[in-house]
Amino acid sequence: MPLKVVKFGGTSLADAAHFRQVASIIKSDLSRRFVVPSAPGKRFPEDTKITDLFYRCYDQIRSGRSIDVTYGEIVSRFNQIISDLGLDFDLSGEYEYIKNAMLHRSGRDFAASRGEYLCGLILAKYLGFSFIDAENVIFFKENGSFDEERTDAALRNELSNYKNAVVPGFYGSMPNGTIKTFPRGGSDITGAIIARSADADLYENWTDVPGFMTADPRIVDNPCIIDTITYRELRELAYMGATVLHEDAIFPVRHAGIPINIKNTNAPEEKGTMIVASAPDYDKKRIVTGIAGKRGFSVITIIKDMMNSEIGFGRRVLEVLEDNELSFEHLPSGIDTMSVVLATADIEGRRERLLTQISRVTRPDSISIEDGLALIAVVGRGMIKSKGVAARIFSAIYAAGINIRMIDQGSCELNIIIGVDERDFENALRAIYNEFFK
Ligand code: ASP
Repeated sequence: MPLKVVKFGGTSLADAAHFRQVASIIKSDLSRRFVVPSAPGKRFPEDTKITDLFYRCYDQIRSGRSIDVTYGEIVSRFNQIISDLGLDFDLSGEYEYIKNAMLHRSGRDFAASRGEYLCGLILAKYLGFSFIDAENVIFFKENGSFDEERTDAALRNELSNYKNAVVPGFYGSMPNGTIKTFPRGGSDITGAIIARSADADLYENWTDVPGFMTADPRIVDNPCIIDTITYRELRELAYMGATVLHEDAIFPVRHAGIPINIKNTNAPEEKGTMIVASAPDYDKKRIVTGIAGKRGFSVITIIKDMMNSEIGFGRRVLEVLEDNELSFEHLPSGIDTMSVVLATADIEGRRERLLTQISRVTRPDSISIEDGLALIAVVGRGMIKSKGVAARIFSAIYAAGINIRMIDQGSCELNIIIGVDERDFENALRAIYNEFFK
């Protein structure tokens, strides 16, 4: 029988009604054997996620304030779920222990992780599944990075003991046993790690949206859902701001060739989006898979006559970036010019030093820095086989009366990156969307 690992996001577990829905999804398919829950999320827009309530407790303790009200809110939310589900389950010992541990400075990550932990206990009880505490199977190294080898060995061993189990997302433990979390949204990563160690046939990631969209619905009205996308396309789009899945969640399953299916908990019969290693078929009508973009970039432009024949010029510029621990986004260049595109937030407070250092090693005719750049990535595996994609993008932007400040096309032709002024960002994105999807 195939094996599926299923991860449910916070909104899918926000209250008892959602728990029931989640249980019916799991029980409707016996291959859904390992379940990774997030902590209960928002029930309505002004609501607070359980994880944020735990962070608030931590901050209150640090500043010497009482956590009674906030912690009371957490406890009553979990108790409400338990009683609405009609479960005979008393977590008061756990609540007491967690509160004391937090008051005795068990750390920020410990506090943040307890939402997943408690949610996992309740879900396991409700489903009649075993509970595997992530602290015993997900490990980090001394330097804080994920310990893939140790985790994989522990997980393979542990999972083989169970037919069904719930493993809370988002956290694991350090070599000294303290709790550490992944970045926010990190339950997606846990799900991917478990899918790999369980040798799953499919990693289902259940959320509150119908799938991965072709563009940001806050910018474009009713964007269509992408039915199939490759890992590489998704990575490009996720990096440029399209979120549904945590971008680090792709690596564990990608290496193992396990597809991910983004599914909507509120409409389980819909197909959602399949994320796969390769998708050979491409549809002439769908040359572009998706469009995403971000504001907040700066460009350093270096101009020097005869730059093209000066050996080592690029290396010297890149060495300055390396010494400053900066990673660049793009490096468009001309015969006598080189531009470095960087995230503005990364260079804040050290732009003068950066310019001085680059000038010292390159002796340019001029060097300048400009902020306010937005980047838009047009991504599609079908682009390589189609003529005129770039022309269509540029004409659409031209017709919208927008000036293009930068263009970068990777030689693998998976994407074309356009840099525009931040104030033109949304209009440019809409213009490209309308050209390819309307
Ligand atoms: N609960 C955590 C967060 O809010 C992790 C997750 O939901 O994936 O970021």
